[in-house]
Amino acid sequence: MIPESEAREHVLAHCSVLSPVRTPLAELTGLVLAEPVVAGEDVPPFVNSAVDGYAVRAADAADAPVELVVVGEVAAGASTEREVGPGEAIRIMTGAPMPAGADASVMVEDTERLDGGNRVRIGRSIEPGVAVRLAGDDVRAGTELFVPGTVITPAVAGVLASVNVRRAFAIPRPRVAVLSTGDELVDDGSPLQPGQIRESNKTMLIGLVAAAGCDTVDFGVVRDDEAALETVLREAARTCDAVVTSGGVSMGDYDVVKAVLSRIAEMRWMQIAIKPAKPFAFGLLATGAADGGSIPVFGLPGNPVSSLVSFELFARPALRQMAGHKAIDRPTLVAVAAAPLSRRPDGKTHYVRVRGEFAGDGRYHVTSVGGQGSHQLAATATAQALAVLLDGDGVAAGGDVTAIVLSL
Ligand code: AMP
Ligand code: MG
Repeated sequence: MIPESEAREHVLAHCSVLSPVRTPLAELTGLVLAEPVVAGEDVPPFVNSAVDGYAVRAADAADAPVELVVVGEVAAGASTEREVGPGEAIRIMTGAPMPAGADASVMVEDTERLDGGNRVRIGRSIEPGVAVRLAGDDVRAGTELFVPGTVITPAVAGVLASVNVRRAFAIPRPRVAVLSTGDELVDDGSPLQPGQIRESNKTMLIGLVAAAGCDTVDFGVVRDDEAALETVLREAARTCDAVVTSGGVSMGDYDVVKAVLSRIAEMRWMQIAIKPAKPFAFGLLATGAADGGSIPVFGLPGNPVSSLVSFELFARPALRQMAGHKAIDRPTLVAVAAAPLSRRPDGKTHYVRVRGEFAGDGRYHVTSVGGQGSHQLAATATAQALAVLLDGDGVAAGGDVTAIVLSL
């Protein structure tokens, strides 16, 4: 058995960031920026009102309440040539350009409409500059807004739109082929024949890969047949950036993934000091292109819970690294064991599936989901976190335990 850290380092060392692609704004959210973005425009582009109300000369309202003559109106998207003179006001909407002469906006709630709208009573005195948004108040043209490596969140994409960035270089979503293997697997809804089971891993892995920020390509359930598997793997290598397989990587006689990948890829077959998910394979599979390139292959174990844990510990960080993310790992918390999390020493780190919740003490309290067998996906599906039990006897009730948070 090798330490988990060795497997992780090996995998990460062989998964490089994909080449940046010039990407339209509408497709940037969720990607990692690969170039600096400098604002080409001021935001807002002109001085405007922060409120619906009246644009005034603050000096006129110094001795409020006062009455002013309403000499015009300006809506968002419009503008006015009319200047606000002494004793005058212009009715103004949020976002509309401040008329010349005015230096403050009085919100409509502090005013009273008089004489059918021809006059207005200003109820409160106001300082110059109040409720006025200056040009460039949010973004000044020429400012470096974002550095390479920035994750384009919806808000970042909004800022890009606000300064008219129509496209930018970003790391593309890795295109990940997902397939499962096994003669026993049924995924078309037909009645189970003796020895058959329903396929579950591919459905789960497609979701996990997508949630990690990748595009998925479903390569189906592949029979335990070397020729068939080789055809599928070569097609995946030709068209995708990575392959995730499940099943066939352990010590069984029909572990065809092992047989085929050993032959056509440069693989490392690992037994990792963790439970579940001890068997794991990783390697590089030639794309077949003239440049001699290759793509990473993650050979996850077939037991559904092992598949999930293996994906979380090795494939997910690697795929996120390929997508350009610096934060490649799930967040961890120092949690409290709400009940004992026991185990026996066996030289392995145990990843125990736990439910978790924040309690009144502000801490995250975790409890085993129950069934911890590597085939018991239903119990695992109720988990919010993986409790990390280092080799030893586990953690007593009330003790601290590291929790890898899968979902809050
Ligand atoms: P293997 O790694 O292929 O030896 O499979 C280990 C265990 O996981 C066996 O019980 C398989 O039937 C089961 N298994 C493998 N692949 C899947 C899958 N895609 N969905 C559900 N169970 C699977
Ligand atoms: Mg199998």
